[in-house]
Amino acid sequence: MAAGQTTTAKRAASRHDSTKPHITDSPITRANWYKHVNWLNVALIVGMPVYGLIAAIWTPLVWKTAVFSVLYYFATGLGITAGYHRLWAHTSYSAGLTLRIFFAAVGGGAVEGSIRWWARDHRAHHRYTDTDKDPYSVRKGLLYSHIGWMIMKQNPKRIGRTDISDLNNDKVVQWQHRNYLKVVVFMGLIFPCLVTGLGWGDWAGGFVYAGILRIFFVQQATFCVNSVAHWLGDQPFDDRNSPRDHAITAYITLGEGYHNFHHEFPSDYRNAIEWHQYDPTKWFIWVCKQLGLAYDLKQFRQNEIEKGRLQQQQKKLDQARSKLDWGIPIEQLPVLEWDDYQDQARNGRALIAVAGIVHDVTDFIKHHPGGKTMITSGIGKDATAIFNGGVYDHSNAAHNLLSTMRVGVIRGGCEVEIWKRAQRENKDIRFVTDSTGQKIIRAGNQVTRVAEPVATAGAA
Ligand SMILES: [Zn+2]
Ligand SMILES: [Zn+2]
Repeated sequence: MAAGQTTTAKRAASRHDSTKPHITDSPITRANWYKHVNWLNVALIVGMPVYGLIAAIWTPLVWKTAVFSVLYYFATGLGITAGYHRLWAHTSYSAGLTLRIFFAAVGGGAVEGSIRWWARDHRAHHRYTDTDKDPYSVRKGLLYSHIGWMIMKQNPKRIGRTDISDLNNDKVVQWQHRNYLKVVVFMGLIFPCLVTGLGWGDWAGGFVYAGILRIFFVQQATFCVNSVAHWLGDQPFDDRNSPRDHAITAYITLGEGYHNFHHEFPSDYRNAIEWHQYDPTKWFIWVCKQLGLAYDLKQFRQNEIEKGRLQQQQKKLDQARSKLDWGIPIEQLPVLEWDDYQDQARNGRALIAVAGIVHDVTDFIKHHPGGKTMITSGIGKDATAIFNGGVYDHSNAAHNLLSTMRVGVIRGGCEVEIWKRAQRENKDIRFVTDSTGQKIIRAGNQVTRVAEPVATAGAA
């Protein structure tokens, strides 16, 4: 008893002690694991659906109730996607009072927390994506980002700080936050029961199907945005973080599946930007605008979107490019005297000079598509003219292949010219390098390609 009182006293004293370690600071052990669990959330997102499934065994599904359950699923889902997410968390458009009250009500019926709480966490998720301050970071595992972050207690101090002053000034948000429990119970369970009960006498069906099981499906759909949308699909705009685009995620989540785009352009009221992509949330917002319920729909300029897409494509190209052998960079090649070049060629090294660059073709002679005789005739000579059309105008692929065999640059004033030529891209851009600083060689731009054969050291 005395010990119990001491503990209670200690607990009361430490309630205001911010230095007291949070339960999440101590590792999970066999003795304390239950303290790590958020039992209220377990009851709401695991216990309830299990109860609903068992109750469904004794509850016949009336077709009218089935139709209403699906419709109410869409309504409460849109409360989250169009209301909680795109309106309040991202302010990607503005909504009049009617629409805000509607979203606060049906969004509450999805049983995913108050707008204020939801939007704060979501802003932290965008600001600190994939870091420890991201409340549902997928880096902690797919299951954690889906459901683990709610089932296990989280240290509120760990979640990144965000500005929600705009939400604190929204009367509807404040009212819903203060009356959250009433909103949830009424919109989550009582309202669907009233519709099916008063409508066609199916009170139990309304409770089990339009209430409990519908809540389960809406919750799981939203959770998929945090998990599947950070794990499955493409990254057309930025691949530094985890968000991804995928049609399947879009079908599950009322259009929230183009998540790579969304993280890149979060204040755009759209998730899908192509007409054929599934984004009912976008369509719903657009219809609300036509009805005068929503206004100021924000949209990024297509020019900015295409820039982002192009940069990511360029990055992918650079990555692919860096995996290929482009030959020793020209500026790293040793400089050879013309006489040295001829000496080495005479003494058995199969060297061929093209456009001032020396290539060792020893291993290639027998593979030369134009025959052994033809290539051997160029050894020890300036083969620029022969290679560039004098005998046969070689293909782009041939110039590429030749570059992998280069071993030196001929001195005689022209090496500087060669370096300049190697750096020249086209008349607009003189020096083009990829993101790793490597020079980019576009098709037909190998330095050995000379439009009109020029006089080289050998001819001089
Ligand atoms: Zn995300
Ligand atoms: Zn978002």
